[in-house]
Amino acid sequence: MRKIDVFDTTLRDGEQSAGINLNTAEKLEIAKQLERFNADVIEAGFPASSQGDFEAVKKIAQTVKSSIVTGLARSVKSDIDTSWEALKYGEQPHIHIFLATSPIHMTHKLKKTPDQVVDIAVESVKYAKKHFPLVQWSAEDAFRSDPDFLVRVVREVIKAGATTINLPDTVGYATPSEYGAMFRHLKENVPGIDRVKLSAHCHNDLGMAVANTIAAIENGADQVEGTINGLGERAGNAALEELAVALHIRQDKFTFGTDVKLDEIKRTSQLVSQLTGMAIQANKAVVGKNAFAHESGIHQDGMLKERTTYEIITPELIGENSTQIVLGKHSGRHAFKDKAIALGFELSDEKITEAFKAFKELADKKKEISEDDLYVLLTDQQIQEEEVPVYELKSVQVQYGNGSIPTASVSVISPDGDLLQEASTGSGSVEAICNTLERLVKGKVHLLDYRVTSIGKGRDALGEAVVNMTYNGKSTTGRDVAQDVLEASAKAYLNAINRQLVNERKRSYAKTV
Ligand SMILES: [Zn+2]
Repeated sequence: MRKIDVFDTTLRDGEQSAGINLNTAEKLEIAKQLERFNADVIEAGFPASSQGDFEAVKKIAQTVKSSIVTGLARSVKSDIDTSWEALKYGEQPHIHIFLATSPIHMTHKLKKTPDQVVDIAVESVKYAKKHFPLVQWSAEDAFRSDPDFLVRVVREVIKAGATTINLPDTVGYATPSEYGAMFRHLKENVPGIDRVKLSAHCHNDLGMAVANTIAAIENGADQVEGTINGLGERAGNAALEELAVALHIRQDKFTFGTDVKLDEIKRTSQLVSQLTGMAIQANKAVVGKNAFAHESGIHQDGMLKERTTYEIITPELIGENSTQIVLGKHSGRHAFKDKAIALGFELSDEKITEAFKAFKELADKKKEISEDDLYVLLTDQQIQEEEVPVYELKSVQVQYGNGSIPTASVSVISPDGDLLQEASTGSGSVEAICNTLERLVKGKVHLLDYRVTSIGKGRDALGEAVVNMTYNGKSTTGRDVAQDVLEASAKAYLNAINRQLVNERKRSYAKTV
């Protein structure tokens, strides 16, 4: 079986998509989980785009050992230098440089001639090679590039020392046969192409990202790029969990596969959804809530007689656990810590103590604590960043009756340490809370979206609130979890504001791409 490398870009292409802003601790948690998922390469960010991205990439390169860590860079020396400062700690330093090669991008975006583009590409690869043993070069918008020009530029960057060549369908326009043909054309026409890894990067604008990626493999790609849950710019990237499961389930057809740990899929998917605030559509292949639900009577009857009548993927394959309840009210600190370690968490004693306190509070209200609850609780503890003072919810109270106007009174501690209190009304309880908070925080808030979901099953399940807003003109997303959805909503609202405040303090480089 030919082994296909998996290049995960959840933290770069995924993080770049609308409404997602992860802090360093959250990115690190996702990177560690991607390492467990066994991604061959993790694209941790775009180091030259912002101070926050730089720090996160550096931290991930210092932490992750069994996956290669890379970062994106434009074809300019300063980007490559900045990337080196962040990535040099990695086991195998790897950089991902890109330059557009399609006529439309070269003319309108770069304002360069094809000859100039070849020169810049060669220069930047040579420069990167001074530091990096592994240099991936991407022809941005490769699919809409002239095939012969692509042959020429790829030949030159291989000569300059590139070790991987990526040919993205940047705008998600290709069909499988066309995208495969591009790889075949390069395989047949570029001297030395067998010395490098060929990589596919597909966007899902027409819903063909995974199919296009498979077509690329069939025509010579050795590496596939994508994201967890298919996150990414616009309609997203190829969903890696779908790709890995498809290659596994159809081993009878495909002569290639990945080394992805399939039983880490569920957990990876949930973590990414939880931290990005991007819900997974219920009917999404492989990881959707309904992916294994058999509703129709005929199907259920068939399943009871023989599972394979309607089931091609088992929930166990992706690590969906059937043993749900793990701890209860009387579980001690020791059992709690053991469970945390078993779930893969490495928390300091201090954080274990904090997490145990939160667990006890929850166990007082909720009889049985499931693995899902525990996972959310421990992750929340892991991603606490105590770097800068932010708004903190002190108390929230709502008066509601179907014959009266909902009124909320809220008190918060401001970043300066002052206790602020306000009360306000709204047409519903959540709106009353939001209106009150809007009066409490400094700055202009415009609420865009609000969502509440339950974590796990049962009437006493935890509630998770996700708030999407613009704060001082910039879009930000906040989330939080509590047993009561109104409390979760207030915390998520402040979380969005706090993220924006932290980001403002970190934004020292100009975001140019
Ligand atoms: Zn992309």
